[in-house]
Amino acid sequence: MTVQPNSIEARDAAYHLHPYSNARKAEAEGSLILEEGEGIYVTDNTGKRYIEGLSGLWSVAVGFGEQRLIDAANAQMQKLPYYHAFAQKSHTPAVELAEKLVQMAPVPMSKVFFTNSGSEGNDTVVKLLWYRANAMGQPQKKKIISRIKGYHGVTVASASLTGLPYNHMSFDLPLPGIMHAGCPHYGGFAQEGESEEQFVARLAQELEDMILAEGPDTIAAFIGEPVMGAGGVIVPPEGYWAAIQAVLKKYDILLIADEVICGFGRTGQMFGSQTMGMEPDVMVLSKQLSSSYMPISAVLVNDRVYQPVADESDRIGTLGHGYTGSGHPVAAAVALENIKIIEERDLVGNAARLSPLFLSRLKDLTANPLVKEMRGIGLIGALELKQQGDAVGVAGGAMAAACMERGLIVRNLGDTVALCPPLIITEEQMVEMFDIYADALASLSF
Ligand code: PMP
Repeated sequence: MTVQPNSIEARDAAYHLHPYSNARKAEAEGSLILEEGEGIYVTDNTGKRYIEGLSGLWSVAVGFGEQRLIDAANAQMQKLPYYHAFAQKSHTPAVELAEKLVQMAPVPMSKVFFTNSGSEGNDTVVKLLWYRANAMGQPQKKKIISRIKGYHGVTVASASLTGLPYNHMSFDLPLPGIMHAGCPHYGGFAQEGESEEQFVARLAQELEDMILAEGPDTIAAFIGEPVMGAGGVIVPPEGYWAAIQAVLKKYDILLIADEVICGFGRTGQMFGSQTMGMEPDVMVLSKQLSSSYMPISAVLVNDRVYQPVADESDRIGTLGHGYTGSGHPVAAAVALENIKIIEERDLVGNAARLSPLFLSRLKDLTANPLVKEMRGIGLIGALELKQQGDAVGVAGGAMAAACMERGLIVRNLGDTVALCPPLIITEEQMVEMFDIYADALASLSF
């Protein structure tokens, strides 16, 4: 792409520092400017249409241009465009959403704390657990175990939880007291000759060793995505979560499920925790919560977390945490309507129904010699391409570019090329998406 003087691309390059981009490359090449969206499609400023193969950032469950969400936002804007939840204030959308989320949760939860992004949600969890440890007279019980390749956000604490080099390098992270256990990617981390069962047993043993080395009474919680997303779409092997949870139970360590991608149907059930047999004490929800039409996230806590936190707020006089936008009424109203659509149109059922086609089309492509591995569950999946030369991401970047040229937006995470289409996708559209993806793969030569 060459940037024309005074074009929107040139103005973007002049003024906009992009997240997750190489700033010098963005200045020189410009960025793709999207103008419109409808269903699973988005259109750029030249009129070219693309299938949004990643639902934006794993988030637009109901697709683009959903009139009911536009109407819900409009109605709430007119009624009460803003109010906060500080100092015992509330409003109907926040109440109804909190009630709905507690009712939907697959395990008993008692309260919802609203935040605006997945990162803020996870930061809030870290702070609530530190607060809880003090409340319980166990001030040493504040360490949190996350995982290599886990993704939990980019704020100071959540970036520390994230187990990816880009989120730590030159940011002086992770914070002390946050450790990273092994990644449950069998294809990437299994030892020579190790079966899946042995791999799982080793990860559980290594977790136990880490806990014992640190001191079990110093560990507050373990955080994990039921299925890892941004770390490369990593579906843990059978038995992984059962083995991990057995270790956590043994040492009285809480489990936090980061459901920011998995929540609301992505894995073929409403929550990834159900698909993976997890019984979390804390759940973090965002993205498909509002289909990202409005920024909103929610932290669900059970009584083991809530009761000591409530006592501590009573002792101190207030829970000194919260955001101007916590439970924003327009975002909450949009989220409520979005969940209604997911339920009424049985989008979770749609994900489960189309999953076999999705996974089999991905699997077919493993016949291509450039492919190292396919991974997926529900409607989230990826092909990992073989690394070309010394640099990670050459093959993945070429594949993403070939898809884009052909009218499909995907995301390459290094050499892993992820697909995560809107949950409204039809069978016909799925075929259209994979025809482009397959053609892009066939076009690659190194
Ligand atoms: N957790 C998970 C599992 C995520 O995938 C993401 C975002 N990709 C986050 C947290 C952070 O969310 P946000 O970008 O809204 O801060």
